[in-house]
Amino acid sequence: MSLESQNSGNLKTRELIKSTFIDMDIKNGFVATVGNTPLIRLNSFSEETGCEILGKAEFLNPGGSVKDRAALYIIEDAEKKGLLKPGGTVVEGTAGNTGIGLAHICNAKGYKCLIIIPETQSQEKIDTLKTLGAEVRLVPAVPYKNPDNYVKVSGRVAAEMDNAIWANQFENLANRNAHYETTGAEIWTQTDGKIDGWVAATGTGGTYAGVSMYLKDQNSHVRCVVADPMGSGLYSYIKTGEIKPEGKSITEGIGNSRITGNMEGAPIDDAIQIDDRECVRVIYQLLNKEGLFMGGSVGINVGAAVALAKQMGAGHTIVTVLCDGGGRYQSRLYNPEWLASKGLAI
Ligand code: PMP
Repeated sequence: MSLESQNSGNLKTRELIKSTFIDMDIKNGFVATVGNTPLIRLNSFSEETGCEILGKAEFLNPGGSVKDRAALYIIEDAEKKGLLKPGGTVVEGTAGNTGIGLAHICNAKGYKCLIIIPETQSQEKIDTLKTLGAEVRLVPAVPYKNPDNYVKVSGRVAAEMDNAIWANQFENLANRNAHYETTGAEIWTQTDGKIDGWVAATGTGGTYAGVSMYLKDQNSHVRCVVADPMGSGLYSYIKTGEIKPEGKSITEGIGNSRITGNMEGAPIDDAIQIDDRECVRVIYQLLNKEGLFMGGSVGINVGAAVALAKQMGAGHTIVTVLCDGGGRYQSRLYNPEWLASKGLAI
């Protein structure tokens, strides 16, 4: 390309960016800034597969993750039902991102926030929660069947407090409604209905279920696939009907060994399992070739999108989620010594 045509191309891009900025409306505070995230074409992955691999840029939410949407819907649902009153406290058991979303919204709306988090979660997420003013209680990471599991502790703590609600993100359907009404609808509009596959890992299942239900309501042929890390029981459940977790994963906030309220009734066409080695490979391709600094669950999601693209063949459009940014995992995923200690040296 000649320098002249390159310059005129750059000029056109700048004009476009300028007009986009000028058109952007003013958002009314944190709450109105949640959602309406861009859909990013992942160029290197798209070129490798011959498919359009698109990532919903949830790391661009104001609290930094896909969970801002669920946090907002859960709080506003409780307000509408009269359960959350001025000065009240929002209590939740969370791997971090829901807590961060809740803490931001509590500050913006004048509520208190109390978070119960397993002590295995990244220090970055714990520090962020504290900085946001949430009361943070660390608990040992024990399986769900144990009464001291963080989710169960959070339910008990909320029940014992006055003027407090339990967000209960795993069972509270306000979570998946957020994704039905916003994430799913946005993806459908952004792709102009030209979407062949949707794939995402699940924590509560809110994102996967809400988006799948919306997309299937528009077009029952959209293939909806659960991405699953090792150590989670969902892959075996979907493939064989038996919840049988195998192996383990360094990813946080995803995988499950039970069917949550939010996953009940969600359309599932198939499941794809991605191991940590592939997850880390994808994370570093995102960093080095796409310029995207992403959290671990994104490695599972994009790894599964690539696997789905290979299954479906060239020419298809596949959408997944870029759940959060890499800064939350700097001391782990982006620390070569930590990776090596997990047998995942890059
Ligand atoms: N990725 C990350 C980093 C998360 O924190 C979560 C939520 N725990 C998810 C993915 C999964 O989202 P959902 O709860 O909607 O299934």
